[in-house]
Amino acid sequence: MTLAVASYHKIGAEPPPGNWESWYYVSELVFERQLEEFASAGWTVVGVDTLRAAVDAPESVPSKALLLTFDDGYRSFGSTALPVLQRFDYPAVLFVPTDHIGGSNVWDRDEEPEEAICDWGDLRYLHESGIAIQSHAASHRAFSQLSSDEWREELYGSRCRLEDQLCSPVDIIAYPYGDDAAMPEDLRVALANAGYRVGCLYGGGPNSVPLVDQYRVSRLALGPDSDISMMLAQSG
Ligand SMILES: [Zn+2]
Repeated sequence: MTLAVASYHKIGAEPPPGNWESWYYVSELVFERQLEEFASAGWTVVGVDTLRAAVDAPESVPSKALLLTFDDGYRSFGSTALPVLQRFDYPAVLFVPTDHIGGSNVWDRDEEPEEAICDWGDLRYLHESGIAIQSHAASHRAFSQLSSDEWREELYGSRCRLEDQLCSPVDIIAYPYGDDAAMPEDLRVALANAGYRVGCLYGGGPNSVPLVDQYRVSRLALGPDSDISMMLAQSG
């Protein structure tokens, strides 16, 4: 069994006027074509429960399962990606850095156009629309730059805020920048103690199921020019 986790950032919305081109924007048309390419290659889009099942009940995971994930919680997701996902009837996961809810991607300043991040009302609407809202830590700082106390704050803080507001379990994290600090044992312990069951990297190919390491799940880093068939041929 194989579980591919697709990782997108911004669908559709053009960068604001005066801003530069960014690889992290995928137009709606290209996004739809990529979804069609996955489907015609025989991948079945699954929801977040299948990622959990890859840990607890790997035999229940379809042979070519595909989970769609979106990082940073951009407000444009609701107007661009969501209608496409609804047309395909596909579930998805949105990873949100909780300190920036209702703000913007200030951590990307000078590197990416400024974009609004969902506020709590937006997240509630997406949650009610069937999008799983999960953790992208709190501050969006790279874990390799943080102390173990700071890891704990990021892990607990983001989980508690999302669970309090959305009344839904949060047990999956996408590490900011895909940086897992090379997964030292104390981060592994902090993840388990904070209730996380899966940690997602950024980059790599599909994961074999049962997962080799539930805290180091590879994700296909997708942009407008991605060669999906080549990425799917890689191993985790
Ligand atoms: Zn991010």
